[in-house]
Order: sequence, then C-alpha cells, then structure tokens
Amino acid sequence: MPLASLPKAELHLHIEGTLEPELAFELAARNGVDLPYADTEELRKAYLFEDLQSFLDLYYGLMAVLRTEDDFEQLADAYLARAAAQGVRHAEIFFDPQAHTARGVPIGTVVQGLDAALSKSVERHGVSTRLIMCFLRDQSAESAMQTLESAKPYLDRIVGVGLDSAEVGNPASKFREVYEAAGALGLRKVAHAGEEGDPSYIWEALDLLGVERVDHGLRCMEDPALVERLVRDRVPLTLCPLSNVRLRAVDVLEEHPLPRMMDAGLLCTVNSDDPAYFGGYAGDNFHAVREALAIEPERLRQLARNSFLASFLDDDEELRSRYLAEVDAFAFDD
Ligand SMILES: [Zn+2]
Repeated sequence: MPLASLPKAELHLHIEGTLEPELAFELAARNGVDLPYADTEELRKAYLFEDLQSFLDLYYGLMAVLRTEDDFEQLADAYLARAAAQGVRHAEIFFDPQAHTARGVPIGTVVQGLDAALSKSVERHGVSTRLIMCFLRDQSAESAMQTLESAKPYLDRIVGVGLDSAEVGNPASKFREVYEAAGALGLRKVAHAGEEGDPSYIWEALDLLGVERVDHGLRCMEDPALVERLVRDRVPLTLCPLSNVRLRAVDVLEEHPLPRMMDAGLLCTVNSDDPAYFGGYAGDNFHAVREALAIEPERLRQLARNSFLASFLDDDEELRSRYLAEVDAFAFDD
C-alpha cells in the first residue's frame, strides 16, 4: 500500500488552516465578501508567504469569508474528505473561537457548524473526530476566560482546550486560571509550546497548565532534563514537519529533529498544522519526512501507532484497538 494510506490519527490540525483558495472564493462569493485577490491563482501565490507575520495576516484576513454554520460545516467536511484520502482515521481538530467572535460570528455558529460535519464524519468519511477549543495566547487571560464561559452550552461537543498563536512573550503562566477552570469542567488539556519559544515554555505548559500533550515541542531537545521528563511521563508531542519548514522553526526538512527525538524515546506524532498553507496534509507530512529524513518503514509505523496512543480515545478503547490493529496490518509498498 502507498505510504499515504498508512492509518493515522491527526492530533494537530487547525480547521481554519484547511481553507483552500477554491473554497475561500466560493464562500466569499456566497457571503458577499471582497477578497483582495483577482482569482484562486493569485491567492495561491499569496500562500507562498515569506514569514510568520505575512502568514498570520493572510490567515486572519481570509477568515472573513467564514460567516455561517453552513460555511463552517463545508470547511470541516472538505478537510475530512482530504484527510480520509490520506489515511487519517481519527482527527482531533482545533478551532479558534476568538478569531471568529472578534469579527461578530458567535461561538455557537462555529461549534454547531463544525459539529454538523463532524457528526456525519464516521458515516461519510470513515473518520472519527474530537473537537478541541484553542485560546489565542496573544489575547488576554480575561478574553480566554470569557471564551471558556461562552463555550459552556456546547461542552458536550468539545473534548478539550488548547493554546495557540504567537508564542514568544505569551507564556503558559498567563493562562493558569483558565486551564484550571477548564480542568474543573472535565476538559482535556493541550498547548502549543516549544515551537518558537524556548524550553521554559514547555516546562510551564506541563507544570502550570497540566497539559497531557504538547503541540510542537521540538525545542525540548535543547534541555536534557526536559527530554527526560517528557520520556518518563510519556507526554506525546504533536510535531508538524512541513509547518516547521514554512515558518522557519527549522531551516530545511533534512535538519528536522524528528529522528533524534524518536531516538531519545520521545512519543512523537506527525501532523499537518495548517495544511492549506504549509504545503500538505497528514499523508504529505509522512511522505516528506520519509524522503527528507530517510525514516524506515517500521519507524513510520511507530509514528502511526503513537498517533493513536496519544489520541483522546480513552473513552473508546475498543476503537483505539481497532485502529492499532489496522496500523499493525499495514503492508508497505517498499
Ligand atoms: Zn498549530
């Protein structure tokens, strides 16, 4: 079987980052939003941004086309179809309520729209799903708390909370209270840490927020005591290799620390982050690391196994076992 169809769970995926140029134009036309690009061709060129700021400008600018429940449903359904075609069997999907409420789109519109697609996903795409609500770390702690409050009517559809956006200068400590409140509501906890921020950001996410998984986390390699801690506690890391290259966390994929991280005994997973912008979906990321880092088939299988072990399928161990059996039975082409 081709590598792309290796069964896997995607654990680091921002639904807003799956907006392809064609869908952006379709939604813009439907909602009467003017995009500052002549056509999809010109927009696709803008996706070849140079740095983090030009990415964020484009990313938040394009969100203007997402207005109704139908828009969010269509966005999520399009992602799930693409993910399924690349072997994703389970997806834990991030969304950023504050990016929408700031433009006057209520959180209920976002959650209900996404849920409309997610609730049909097993039947339509053979992909089980969970939804994780992220706080924007460059916004205030008060805004995060208000967001958690506003999400209370929808918590039956949200499995956990995360923390994303600009890391440096916005350490985890700022969000200690909101994570405590989220934990008290029974929500699982993850956070982006150690992508651009130094290892102290990961320590804080672990010790102050009590996260169960670290998103990115690649800079843990600068701190042997931290690596020891992550290995000892089996804390999963959701790595996003193509994203790391596009946002310059590593210069070239050939220098990505993934093999060294696996050698160190870290529980690594491979994910796509914002695939419409970073050059590929989950299967593309597996393909890219195989090519650039010469990762052998059994290690690719281990990465796939890790993704299910690290997933929040604790409420359905039978399903997790079935997925792991699919991974074990997968036959590589070469
Ligand atoms: Zn991310």
